[in-house]
Amino acid sequence: MATQNHAVIVGAGVGGLVCAALLAAQGMGVTVVETAAGPGGKMREVDAGGGAVDAGPTVFTLRQVFDAVFDACGDSLDAHLTLTPATILARHAWGDDRLDLFADPAASAAAIGDLAGAREAAGYRAFRAEAQRIFETLDRPFLQAQQTNPLGLTWRLGWRGFADLNRIRPYESLWRALGDHFRDPRLRQLFGRYATYCGSSPFQCPGTLMLVAHVEAAGVWLIEGGMHRLALALEALAKRNGATFRYGAPVAEILVDRGRAAGVVLASGERIAARAVVCNADPAALAGGAFGAGVRRAVAAQPSSRRSLSALVWCARGTAAGFPLVRHNVFFSRDSAAEFGALAGGRLARDPSVYVCAQDRAACDAAPRTGPERFQIIVNAPPTGDTHPLTQAETDQCTQSMHATLTYAGLTLDLPAAATALTRPQDFHRLFPRTGGALYGPDSHGWAASFRRPGSRTRIPGLYCAGGSTHPGAGVPMAALSARLAVESLLRDRASTVSSHPVAMPGGMSTRSARTVGSA
Ligand SMILES: Cc1cc2nc3c(=O)[nH]c(=O)nc-3n(C[C@H](O)[C@H](O)[C@H](O)COP(=O)(O)OP(=O)(O)OC[C@H]3O[C@@H](n4cnc5c(N)ncnc54)[C@H](O)[C@@H]3O)c2cc1C
Repeated sequence: MATQNHAVIVGAGVGGLVCAALLAAQGMGVTVVETAAGPGGKMREVDAGGGAVDAGPTVFTLRQVFDAVFDACGDSLDAHLTLTPATILARHAWGDDRLDLFADPAASAAAIGDLAGAREAAGYRAFRAEAQRIFETLDRPFLQAQQTNPLGLTWRLGWRGFADLNRIRPYESLWRALGDHFRDPRLRQLFGRYATYCGSSPFQCPGTLMLVAHVEAAGVWLIEGGMHRLALALEALAKRNGATFRYGAPVAEILVDRGRAAGVVLASGERIAARAVVCNADPAALAGGAFGAGVRRAVAAQPSSRRSLSALVWCARGTAAGFPLVRHNVFFSRDSAAEFGALAGGRLARDPSVYVCAQDRAACDAAPRTGPERFQIIVNAPPTGDTHPLTQAETDQCTQSMHATLTYAGLTLDLPAAATALTRPQDFHRLFPRTGGALYGPDSHGWAASFRRPGSRTRIPGLYCAGGSTHPGAGVPMAALSARLAVESLLRDRASTVSSHPVAMPGGMSTRSARTVGSA
């Protein structure tokens, strides 16, 4: 493979997979090197007593982002996966009080009216309109565009820039902004929870994050066979155009030659030369030295105090009784302020909110089950997997608290130990090095947080970042958007290098020169 036309991608998470597919479709040689035994990264499955259970994302939104990726590769998402729109987006419970949000906005407004009265239903309609407006304001100029600063964003927004910037509520917290629409604390808590989709607190992130609610309201899709199938489909898409995947192949170092990225060294000692390297690992690993001293300065280091949340995630085959579970279910803490206060202080909440995905159920299928079914259960946790790994006693306490929240709403889950796999912050830290178990990169607290995420280009030419910890942010579709931006930067830089300095492109990077520089 001619090195000048070869890219190495470190990591086969969503961002790495989308990069691989798009670059391969452009005729580049692509090698994906991944520590794990298969693709997906956080979008992984684990074995729970003999059956595979989704252990990462379960809510699939913005499918059009993936339609566009498959389309750009001459294929179609529907040819690979069976997708069904969810009629019930999620079922929410506060003790005996329940509320479903539906794909149909009128049905959601009616349900809110039944729970909390006509004024709150009107507040919901106003909230939806505002969330949509914020999303539409930022979609093209920010989410789909390269990272910028506030001035750059104002410029992109055009003559209405300043007015639009203020209207996206950057300077007030999401919690405060929700108070303009909802008086009922349950609804404030429900819509504030969207902050946790990027691992943040509704009390500290800007009102701008209302846009996450719009993303979900715009459509949730169920993937037949589970979310991990999306990873397999992306891998197949990339392979079809010639990309090579190397699993069980951790990268120990990213090589730099004459100031630019030149390939990677695997933990086995093998060297792979390349003209460009895309890092799909968390950029914290770059800044933290996991890929060698030569690329430490590639991105700005983020203090650990700015990490997003981690989680305890139980994947199990068990039985449920006492509550009509649908596919996506949320059981709320009785004290949201105390919950996020504890997390901000680096502690587990005593009374946590709990998400339960009943993976075998259709979106609205609440029929009782006779036998075991698959569950994924999430409780948010501080991202201290490196500095304060949870002890067994803390883990047991959290398991009890999780069950207590469910019991408060009438749900009893029987999760046999032999059919349960638990992932804690320290396990996430091991899977995603130098993160402390933070699952969404840096937090989104304060108006400037979104501008601090690393963009697709790094300070080292030829080295790019892509993934949920990179601009535009966390979540499966955002990680895919970041990959699109990395590919755009890479191809643009390659084109400009080829046209302005054609002789500077080596015909192939020798292993020797890579070794010399890489070990310097
Ligand atoms: C429990 C959970 C629930 C979630 N729920 C949702 C949801 O419902 N909806 C949603 O949209 N998003 C959800 N998310 C977030 C979403 O999963 C992530 O934002 C997204 O999958 C991140 O993708 P990524 O491209 O950043 O890659 P990652 O998934 O972070 O993968 C990075 C890859 O890099 C590899 N790697 C790291 N270091 C090296 C190395 N040295 N050498 C080789 N390989 C390396 C890792 O092994 C990993 O495979 C959830 C996440 C979790 C954990």
